[in-house]
Amino acid sequence: MSKALYLVDSYLKETDATVVSVKDGKFVVFDQTIFYPNGGGQPYDKGKIVKGAETFAVVYVGKFSGEISHEVDHAGLQAGDRVHLVLDWERRYRLMRSHTAAHVVASLLNQGTGALITGNQLDVDHIRFDFNLEQFDREVLETYLEKANRLFGTDVPVKWYELPREEAMKVPGVVKMAGAFPPDLPTLRIVEIVGVDKQADGGTHVKNLREVGQVQFIKSENKGKNNRRIYFKLN
Ligand SMILES: [Zn+2]
Repeated sequence: MSKALYLVDSYLKETDATVVSVKDGKFVVFDQTIFYPNGGGQPYDKGKIVKGAETFAVVYVGKFSGEISHEVDHAGLQAGDRVHLVLDWERRYRLMRSHTAAHVVASLLNQGTGALITGNQLDVDHIRFDFNLEQFDREVLETYLEKANRLFGTDVPVKWYELPREEAMKVPGVVKMAGAFPPDLPTLRIVEIVGVDKQADGGTHVKNLREVGQVQFIKSENKGKNNRRIYFKLN
């Protein structure tokens, strides 16, 4: 099983690694990786693999049967190769800022209205989530974004760590996604935005709310009874 370095240090932009296996010439598993695989509402990382003078572009990263598989743009990598992994940091950093922003807005909405998030998807140019409220208008949503923006202007640390499952499940609101259950593991990874939010999460985040910058409302939609959708973005 490859070591997911991004879970410990989300600011790691490069690392050396060894190719463990290659399938169909272009699906590559390494002994360790900095590439986040698509999932949990956060898109996969892009970047490149350098082997001597040759460069392979990483076009997709997914988790299959527990392994993190990197799809590269052409064949040529072989098991045992020593390589260097390099992230498209601009893309990743935007997604980190967006992910932390999404947790703050979801937490404020949840605390203020009791709404649960029923779906969420980050993208490079927007953040979207669905929540289960019967009635909600744009003005009210915008006041939540204003509240979030005030927090993004302050020094609030963000921490991540493992907790034994039993202890983690006692944290109020540790699961914000309606119907979601954390994986059946002995420990859960907790992302804590100090004083704001604490939840089980496998994504990559910034270390301080100041790094988020500010967010801006795009639009909201009614997606049927009890289902509202909001789109916002980083400024
Ligand atoms: Zn998350």
